[in-house]
Amino acid sequence: MPQARFATFLAVTSFLCTVTHFQHMLVIGNALPNDDLFALDVLSKLHTDHVSTAEASSDFGHIVEAIPNAVFHPTSPADIAGLIKLSLSQPRPFTVAPRGRGHSARGQALAPGGVVVDMRSLAGRGSDHGHRVNVSSDEAWVDAGGEQLWIDVLCATLERGGGGLAPRVWTDYLRITVGGTLSNGGIGGQAFRHGPQISNVLELDVVAGTGEMITCSPDKNADLFFAALGGLGQFGVITRARIALERAPKRVRWVRLAYSDVRSFTRDQELLISRRDSEPDFDYIEGQVQLNRTLTEGRRSSSFFSASELDRLTNLAVETRSSAIYFIEGAMYYTDDTAAFVDERLAMISEDLSFVPGHAFVRDVSYVEFLDRVGRDEQKLRSAGVWDVPHPWLNLFVPRSRVLDFDAGVFKGVLKDARPVGPILMYPMHRDAWDDRTTTATPPDDDDVFYAVGLLRSAVAAGDLERLERENAAVLEFCDRAGIACKQYLPHHDSQDGWKRHFGEKWGRVEAMKRKYDPRAILSPGQGIFPAAVAPDDSV
Ligand SMILES: Cc1cc2nc3c(=O)[nH]c(=O)nc-3n(C[C@H](O)[C@H](O)[C@H](O)COP(=O)(O)OP(=O)(O)OC[C@H]3O[C@@H](n4cnc5c(N)ncnc54)[C@H](O)[C@@H]3O)c2cc1C
Repeated sequence: MPQARFATFLAVTSFLCTVTHFQHMLVIGNALPNDDLFALDVLSKLHTDHVSTAEASSDFGHIVEAIPNAVFHPTSPADIAGLIKLSLSQPRPFTVAPRGRGHSARGQALAPGGVVVDMRSLAGRGSDHGHRVNVSSDEAWVDAGGEQLWIDVLCATLERGGGGLAPRVWTDYLRITVGGTLSNGGIGGQAFRHGPQISNVLELDVVAGTGEMITCSPDKNADLFFAALGGLGQFGVITRARIALERAPKRVRWVRLAYSDVRSFTRDQELLISRRDSEPDFDYIEGQVQLNRTLTEGRRSSSFFSASELDRLTNLAVETRSSAIYFIEGAMYYTDDTAAFVDERLAMISEDLSFVPGHAFVRDVSYVEFLDRVGRDEQKLRSAGVWDVPHPWLNLFVPRSRVLDFDAGVFKGVLKDARPVGPILMYPMHRDAWDDRTTTATPPDDDDVFYAVGLLRSAVAAGDLERLERENAAVLEFCDRAGIACKQYLPHHDSQDGWKRHFGEKWGRVEAMKRKYDPRAILSPGQGIFPAAVAPDDSV
């Protein structure tokens, strides 16, 4: 060993003597043969103290806990590549889980006994997002670091383009990361028109599970590009995404229309999304299901409805004796130029719809207030001490042809006596707005529309978690028995057979991409799709 490298090696090993068991276990001499100083730098960003590992050992779901051996604080994508190479150099590689903000519900961003990458560190400190949100000179797209929160992407793009620019599709909550949502799909009320967030990405930088830093797009390394979109963190760490932009509106008419009958509700939702290319329709369409017992017996708080509006809805629930009230939630964007026409547009749309007369509820808010609505709910729930509670969420994509069966079996069957705390979402999307080359699993293509149904319930009292888990299991069993070919969104499966069924025809591709881009199966082990640390001989 040349003298300089030997000195470096000594520095590394003596550094190791001063650090913890995990770092001590690493075989640094072999780590990065041409760059031991780099190995030292990687090691210095590993935090093994109890506070760091405890913080990275649970998530928003508060259902699963797993302690990592260390938390890594990268300051550049190259650091993440270095960490992955360090892992691969070990006789038994350690697992590596990028953690956006840990807003997963079932341990998907955990790394039991491995290393959690705290993606926040990539952004650095300060209000300029570490220069990791950059709008192109032609204002057609924004490059955002994978660690960036969507709220920060919004604030940065609104400052550009005169009146402001913005991505076209949003999740309901903006304090989740670009890399985390693109690893799932990213759905919201604009998806009926523009598809999910993963249909609005032009290019990615990915640090693959091989340690390579790869730029990919539909034209360049396309297999990795499509694999990483909806890829559940299995193929690489997304460190940059190029996202399409549009002109941002100034304000929003935000509307909820009540229905007591599921047929009219779904018919009107489908009518509205069918007019995706035409004016004067909504720019955002979602829907909610309010189980009547929540209105008549449960907690009646709402950040949208006033107390007197809730009284009216409760009366409606009592009068109709239906098990559920449904709301279409629509939003119509407008600017100073179009403000004069917004009410006229709304009136025209309403003429075609059959919500319960007198039960249209309208608000007028700024664009940012509208998009950040769940951020305000978060503040309220935090103050009430019911944000950091278990969230046994179940999200499903249900084929349009079976959505009435689902309603009958779930809302009027399994959940008939439930008084859920937390919203139930239900809204349709066009299948053709999803690119089949991405990894996210969608229902079979017999239907051109499927519904996103989110049972976003919180366990706030003793026994709630067990009860909600039983109800979730009963919902899945019902779908199985009734032959409703739904897919989980933000999926969780206990066995690889479950994952094979989940991905269906895509499974072969998922396996092949895993072998190519993460052959030792070190990435995002919390998803539980592939057994970690595949022996080298098993790799391609
Ligand atoms: C209140 C709330 C509302 C939500 N609303 C919506 C919604 O409207 N629509 C919607 O689609 N989703 C919604 N979500 C779900 C959200 O998309 C997921 O929680 C998602 O996991 C993003 O959270 P995160 O950024 O904290 O990622 P994490 O939970 O930290 O990570 C999610 C997974 O992706 C991996 N990962 C994280 N970062 C990267 C990266 N840069 N590269 C590769 N892999 C990575 C992780 O290892 C993990 O497996 C909501 C979540 C919450 C808590």
